[in-house]
Amino acid sequence: MTTSQKGLAETNDVLKSTQAVIRTALEKLGYPEEVYELLKEPLRTLTVRIPVKMDDGSVKVFTGYRAQHNDAVGPTKGGIRFHPEVTENEVKALSIWMSLKCGIFDLPYGGGKGGVIADPRNMSFREIEALSRGYIRAISQIVGPAKDVPAPDVFTDGQTMAWMMDEYSKMKEHNAPGFITGKPIMLGGSLGRVTATSKGVAIVIREAAKKQEIELKGSKVVVQGFGNVGSYLAKFMHDMGAKVIGISDAYGALHDPNGLDIPYLLERRDSFGTVTKLFTNTITNKELLEIECDILVPAALENQITEENAPFIKAKIVVEGANGPTTPEGSRILDERGITVVPDVLANAGGVTVSYFEWVQNNQGYYWSEEEVERKLDAMMVKSFNEVYETANSRRVDMRLAAYMVGVRRMAEASRLRGWI
Ligand code: NAD
Repeated sequence: MTTSQKGLAETNDVLKSTQAVIRTALEKLGYPEEVYELLKEPLRTLTVRIPVKMDDGSVKVFTGYRAQHNDAVGPTKGGIRFHPEVTENEVKALSIWMSLKCGIFDLPYGGGKGGVIADPRNMSFREIEALSRGYIRAISQIVGPAKDVPAPDVFTDGQTMAWMMDEYSKMKEHNAPGFITGKPIMLGGSLGRVTATSKGVAIVIREAAKKQEIELKGSKVVVQGFGNVGSYLAKFMHDMGAKVIGISDAYGALHDPNGLDIPYLLERRDSFGTVTKLFTNTITNKELLEIECDILVPAALENQITEENAPFIKAKIVVEGANGPTTPEGSRILDERGITVVPDVLANAGGVTVSYFEWVQNNQGYYWSEEEVERKLDAMMVKSFNEVYETANSRRVDMRLAAYMVGVRRMAEASRLRGWI
């Protein structure tokens, strides 16, 4: 059995490693053990079974999860992932990361996350719709605009959100745009939401490069993953004058030391972020990560930078576009080698930030211009980046621990004020 067949969370337990950093962050902040006991697991995790009539007439039963980490601050919030390697522990860890992001960015939410073990790449449009609707019916009792607000994640998109919103609205017998974010504009989506995560990553890269005195114009950038996050990020870096010399998807990677034609690749990628199948001169994802560059952005899945390849990474800065792309060992090695790691909970929170803007617009029924969304996003990314950067410097910790310290504090304080701890 290969690593990918085994499931990522099994081979490298993202929940355990997240819990370890949460514990250290709480200890550094002086919180007692019971705060860790409360925050180490989601408050609630629901497992559901979803029967779907397939196109060939058979019924396939899918397993899904929805985890709600902590709702002391407000409703929980976080994406839904359709992927064959989804596990319960992965969904739990992802919900904790969402709590941290909301804490770092001062959003009035706690973290939530959902996942279904499925491979939509091998399903018809109709089957994906049936699965999306079935999943929402199955979790409907614990979600809602004031309870838990889902959004897109790996292999789900605006269309998936539209089906889910429609299913929820039908069940509740009223239109409920604030139930889910990442919707198409026509159904109450926010301008700038589709590119928000990658825009946020690009802003963080700009700020991190400034601190390290790296000139972005002409700098060499490598991006792993060419989906929602990776493809638009490659485009933003290209627009900022950087040379994107490597990109990849689940099937392979492309490398050109003179810079790839990103607008062309963006045009040719499919809705699952696949583009390398169109080429024969590909390299592997492993080779991609070890290319000499200034900025490396893993923007695909977890556990991509590990103790095995961290010694060979040749970037100056690693910016985590994906959630959990670096294992604790990998992170430690990069740190020892003087490579700055800008952690996921800071770098990729542009998505949840604009999801929050979308929810605010849905609740007030008044919609903002794209410029307004981008201006507000830029300001929040810069503020949060600086807070984490300064915490790292003043407390003499790496940026991941600093981000966890900033993120966990609000959850702990809200839980204390409610009298939970
Ligand atoms: P996506 O489904 O749009 O794209 C995923 C990309 O990763 C695709 O190009 C796919 O081919 C590639 N990929 C899949 N398996 C791979 C493998 N084993 N090796 C290499 N590449 C592989 O997903 P996305 O929305 O771009 O999300 C990517 C990452 O960013 C995930 O970790 C997700 O949790 C995180 N994230 C996404 C958002 C968002 O707004 N979409 C927000 C925050 C964080």
